[in-house]
Amino acid sequence: MNRQRPLTHLVHELLALALQPGDRAVDATAGNGHDTLHLAQQVSPGGCVYAFDVQHRALDATAGKLYAAGLRDNVNLCRTGHQDMLQRIPAAWHGRVAAITFNLGYLPGGDKQITTAATSTLAALEQSLQLLQNGGVLSVLAYRGHPGGAQEADAVQRWLEEHADQLECQVYESPGPVLLYCTLHRPSA
Ligand code: SAH
Repeated sequence: MNRQRPLTHLVHELLALALQPGDRAVDATAGNGHDTLHLAQQVSPGGCVYAFDVQHRALDATAGKLYAAGLRDNVNLCRTGHQDMLQRIPAAWHGRVAAITFNLGYLPGGDKQITTAATSTLAALEQSLQLLQNGGVLSVLAYRGHPGGAQEADAVQRWLEEHADQLECQVYESPGPVLLYCTLHRPSA
């Protein structure tokens, strides 16, 4: 891999290959909205996105980017923790989502005390298995520099290893975050 290229760019390149107009996608950590906007662009026209964050400030920033791009109507913004996403996303989507992205840590430019946490992240990953379609993509960008970040990244990696029968993962290392980019292969009934 080209080590100069930020992993945030690599995620977008991989998602652009995975998604098509009309698809359903989920951003589990809207943050400043870069990933939500990218997902909305990839699934348009005809597709739809659910995006989650616990902070008004993050959802306002995300809404602003979507309005500017003319894509606000294609996205459901939820001020809900991603650990409740299965409940929030309509049953018609269950098993029919093409991609779910997580960008862990704290809101850049925001309160560094409000971060994702291993327990709720793992709960959301469990729910992602029910939401994704066969062949769907689960992408997790995990930062290790802030308190609790390295433990959260380790917990996510262990969880992915425990689900290796269903999730085929590529690990992209960098001096900062690690990107875990996985494809779901649902076991046949
Ligand atoms: N660290 C990344 C950005 C992460 S943004 C970077 O530097 O690019 C992570 C977002 O997750 C924040 O906006 C935060 O509010 C949000 N968040 C924290 N806990 C959450 C939860 N349980 N559910 C959904 N979003 C959450």
